[in-house]
Amino acid sequence: MGLLPLAEARRHVLERCPPLAPVSMPVGDALGCVTAAAVVCEEQVPPFDNSAMDGFALRSADVAGAGPASPVVLRVVGTLHAGAPPDLAVGEGEAVRIMTGAPLPAGADAVVMVESTTELDGGAAVEVREAVPAGRNVRPAGDDLRPGEVVIEAGVEITPARVGVLATLGRETVDVHARPRVGVLSTGDELVDGPGALGPGQIRDSNRPMLLALVHASGFVPVDLGRVPDDLGVIRAVLGSASSACDAVITSGGVSMGQADLVKVVLDEAGELCWMQIAIKPAKPFAFGALAPGGSGVRVPVFGLPGNPVSSVVSFELLARPALRRMAGFPADQLDRPRVVAVADAPLPRRRDGKVHFVRVVCRYGEDGAYHVRSAGGQGSHQLGALTGANALAVLPDGDGAGLGDAVEVILLQP
Ligand code: AMP
Ligand code: MG
Repeated sequence: MGLLPLAEARRHVLERCPPLAPVSMPVGDALGCVTAAAVVCEEQVPPFDNSAMDGFALRSADVAGAGPASPVVLRVVGTLHAGAPPDLAVGEGEAVRIMTGAPLPAGADAVVMVESTTELDGGAAVEVREAVPAGRNVRPAGDDLRPGEVVIEAGVEITPARVGVLATLGRETVDVHARPRVGVLSTGDELVDGPGALGPGQIRDSNRPMLLALVHASGFVPVDLGRVPDDLGVIRAVLGSASSACDAVITSGGVSMGQADLVKVVLDEAGELCWMQIAIKPAKPFAFGALAPGGSGVRVPVFGLPGNPVSSVVSFELLARPALRRMAGFPADQLDRPRVVAVADAPLPRRRDGKVHFVRVVCRYGEDGAYHVRSAGGQGSHQLGALTGANALAVLPDGDGAGLGDAVEVILLQP
C-alpha cells in the first residue's frame, strides 16, 4: 500500500467533520466555544457620560487660565459617587466632587483630577491648578460600544474578554457551536489499569487517560468509553452505544497490520472506512470512519489512532484535533497549532524513508529573539518519556534531518 501524504489524509478527515449545530449556551459555560452568529450591540456602552478620574467636575471655561502659579477657586456644590443619580448641576464658578465612573453632572464639560486640586474651607471650595479642555477626563456615552455595532463576530472563540463584553451587554446566553463530546476508547488484550502487579505480557493503558486529557485540554468534552479487549463483538457494541452519546469517537490501537487489529474491521462494517498508511513518522497507520446512530442520518466520525502512545498523540494532534476544532466551529485558518521557525541547537538527524518526521523537541524563545530547538530525548513511538519533556514537534521533511544551526519548522504544542 502506498503512503498517503498527510495533507490528503487531513483533507479527507476535515471534509467529513462539519461544524456542529449551533446552541444557545449560558455565557458562563461558553468559554472556548465558537460563536455561531454575530453579537450585535443594542445599547450604548458606557450608558452615560461619566468621569474617568477621581476629581472635580467643572466648566472648562472657568479654569481656562488656571496653572500652578495662577490657581482658580471654585465653589463645591456637592459630591457624586459611582452609582449615584446625576442630580446635581454645575453652574458658573462651581464644581462637583466626583469619583471615577460617576455620571457627569449637568453643566460640567470636564473633570480635573484630584491631584491638581486642593480643597479649601473644609471642602466648601476647591483650588484648581490645571487648565482642562472640554472633554478632559470624561468618558462619553457610547465611547466603547454603540447600538448596531458588531461586538463579536460569528466564528470566533469566546475568550474571557468576550465573556466580559457579553456581561456588559446584559446577555445571559450566547449562540455558539456545541462543544464536541468526544468519546475515548482503548483497545488491546494486553491493557490493564491501576497500580496492581502486571500479569505476563500486560501493560497499563496510558493512551486513554492521555487522550481524555488532550480532549479536555483542547476545550472539548471528554467521554470515557473505557478499555476493551481485541474482540470484535465487544468493540462493535461499545462503538455502537458510544455513537449515540458522543459527537465523535477516538479509539487507540487496532488499526495496524496485525491479526488483532479489529477497530478497522468494525469501522468497515459501519461503512465509510478509510484505512490509511500516512507518510509520517510516528503515526503511520490511521483509520477514519463514521457511525450512524439509530439511522438518524447523523454521522459520528471515528478517529482510529495507532496504539503506540507517542503515535496516538501525534495522530491526535495532526488529524483528530484539527477535525474536532472544525466541528467546534473554528474557521479553516484556526484548526492547527501555531508553527514557528526555530534554530536547531543540536543536530536532528533522520533517515530517508519517504515520510515526514515529527520529532519531539523542546522549543524555547531565546534572548536573541529567535526560537531554539533541541531533541527532547528518545524518539521511539513507544517512548512517552521524551514526550513528557517536549513542548513542540519539529517537522523534518524527508531527507537527512537538520544540522546544527539549521532553521527547523516547529509545531508548538504548548505556549
Ligand atoms: P496496536 O496499534 O494495537 O497494534 O498497538 C501498538 C503498540 O501500542 C503495542 O505495543 C500496544 O501494546 C501499545 N498500546 C496499544 N494501546 C495502548 C494503550 N492504550 N496504552 C499503552 N500502550 C498501548
Ligand atoms: Mg492492539
